[in-house]
Amino acid sequence: MEKQQTLAKKVRLSGIALHTGVRATLNLLPADENAGIVFRRVDMDGKPEVRALAANVVDVQRGTTIASGRAVVYTVEHIMSALHASGIDNCVVEMDGQEPPICDGSSLPFLELIRSAGTVVQSADARFYTVPAPLRVINGHSQIVIFPDREKLTISCVTSFKGCPFDPQFMEYVLDPETYGAEIAPGRTFVDFKDLKMLLAMGLVKGGSLDAAAIIHNGAIICKEKLRFQNEIVRHKILDLIGDLYLTGVRMRGNVIAIRPGHPTNVKTAGEILKTMQK
Ligand SMILES: [Zn+2]
Repeated sequence: MEKQQTLAKKVRLSGIALHTGVRATLNLLPADENAGIVFRRVDMDGKPEVRALAANVVDVQRGTTIASGRAVVYTVEHIMSALHASGIDNCVVEMDGQEPPICDGSSLPFLELIRSAGTVVQSADARFYTVPAPLRVINGHSQIVIFPDREKLTISCVTSFKGCPFDPQFMEYVLDPETYGAEIAPGRTFVDFKDLKMLLAMGLVKGGSLDAAAIIHNGAIICKEKLRFQNEIVRHKILDLIGDLYLTGVRMRGNVIAIRPGHPTNVKTAGEILKTMQK
């Protein structure tokens, strides 16, 4: 039986937060068995905590936002993806503001941070889960279906962005800590130019730059460095899904078919999985 894992030591990462544009520092700390993934706002009185669970999600429009009481944490999905893929069951994520650094818009900096900490095997059994029967979640044009599989997490994903080169994109990926770093973690965030204009008008993405995302505009992809993969968009969608599925609080197993997934469908799926778990 595989055992739970936490980090071997505290590690730190600083950078610019995507929406507020302020400098943010994040610490990852070891946590006790069965603690799960907990975000802690050290900049607030009493250092309130938010458990990274679907029930605590309060917004899914521009990323996955969780909250408990006054404590709100934005854009948790890339950290969650790196923790899920690394098999880290217990960890405290200390934040000095409402958002983690966006870094290069991928989960690679978080994965490297986790690797720099090293892992410790704990004595409690790791908790794995697959759905007892096929589960389907539909949200507009987006759809996720999960079939039971006790052995592994397979994600088959299709994306489609009108006016984007290399469209549609497809990828099938079996979650494996050995391949995640090369295949999925480097996939960066993409933003549609139309959405970007709207976000800027709303006073958001103040920390956004071509260091942190690529922009889809008039049939082209604008980014600072060349694309890391021709199908980088679908790889990032899989990255986000691995992160959002970790809002179940367990290491997920199953055969997932994701058609144009996004945070609203991903988080709804995590919530539906939790419901089957409670039965
Ligand atoms: Zn993302």
